[in-house]
Amino acid sequence: MEFAPWNENWDTVVIGAGPGGVTAAIYAIRGEQKTLLIEKAYTGGQIALTAEVENYPGFPSVTGMELAQRLDEHLRKFNTPILNKTVENISEAGDREYFVELGTGEKVRTKNIIISTGSSPDLLEAENAKKHYGRGVSYCAVCDGPFFKGQDVIIVGGGDAAMEEAQYLASVCRKVTLVHRREGFRAQPIAITRTQALPNVEFKLNRVITRVLGDEKVEGVILRNTQTGEEEKYPTAAVFVFIGHTPNTKFAANLLKLSDTGEIYVDGRQRTEKPGVFAVGDVTYLSHRQMTISVGEGATAAIEAGRYLITGDWPETLVPKH
Ligand code: NAP
Repeated sequence: MEFAPWNENWDTVVIGAGPGGVTAAIYAIRGEQKTLLIEKAYTGGQIALTAEVENYPGFPSVTGMELAQRLDEHLRKFNTPILNKTVENISEAGDREYFVELGTGEKVRTKNIIISTGSSPDLLEAENAKKHYGRGVSYCAVCDGPFFKGQDVIIVGGGDAAMEEAQYLASVCRKVTLVHRREGFRAQPIAITRTQALPNVEFKLNRVITRVLGDEKVEGVILRNTQTGEEEKYPTAAVFVFIGHTPNTKFAANLLKLSDTGEIYVDGRQRTEKPGVFAVGDVTYLSHRQMTISVGEGATAAIEAGRYLITGDWPETLVPKH
């Protein structure tokens, strides 16, 4: 029989199966909430695309893919109902209930919503970058790095993601050139020191890529010096881009007031301004974007969701965290 969650009434619908959403689903199910998890792609979110994770307690060193598989296993252990569909909109259904509206037209009715849809990578705006997407311009080192084994590649960005993925690519590729638009970095000192210590990583600072060169495949880039304006042709087989993320919250914009950068405001218990609606992880305002934090916030949201089902209490005005 087809799984038709739109024919049922749910206590809690969790949207997004990253670490925060998976935690929320596990806590909600163990808390006897009738829970549905909706995920449009795969379990793990961004973490599944991360080469190595070494700041998740209890896992001194683990690949992102392995962690994502463990999250999947954990969901299966509790027979979590999972719906693989895209959420287009969330709206009020009256009487403090909501509709989670799917791209396929169905509406799922629920008392609580926990939003944990994470964020998507920001795109390189250089000329021809789009044309080469998936064929030499990549947003996932662990997915595409092995295609460039033994070759020279570029990584763009100066945050933690750029540093960590540069370290991974340095173990696969012959040489990695890290291109960053200024001299200072956002990354944590330990990540910078480790990257600088690698013999096959070169830093090209105060540079941006203005054009990606090559017809069928990437052959190089044009680098512009942000201080002098000078341009140079720089050969490379691939460009890996790690220049930040944008929260996946478009579907929530009709129900919730979002920040200028699309983030959701929550209080210290992950509550939004709407009774029964919570948000966790990278979608929240000024998030630290750490898996450990998303996991804790997922647990908090599910516990609070259970409490709300019993008491119906919700603050009249939202006092945003931070
Ligand atoms: P991020 O910290 O926002 O860094 C983005 C980098 O890209 C910055 O260096 C920024 O330069 C640069 N940039 C932004 N737009 C650009 C453009 N249009 N052209 C060229 N460069 C551009 O992003 P992230 O590295 O993805 O990290 C996101 C969050 O996840 C952070 O909070 C980070 O700590 C966290 N994270 C943590 C870990 C970990 O703890 N192991 C791993 C990965 C990520 P400017 O500095 O000049 O703005």
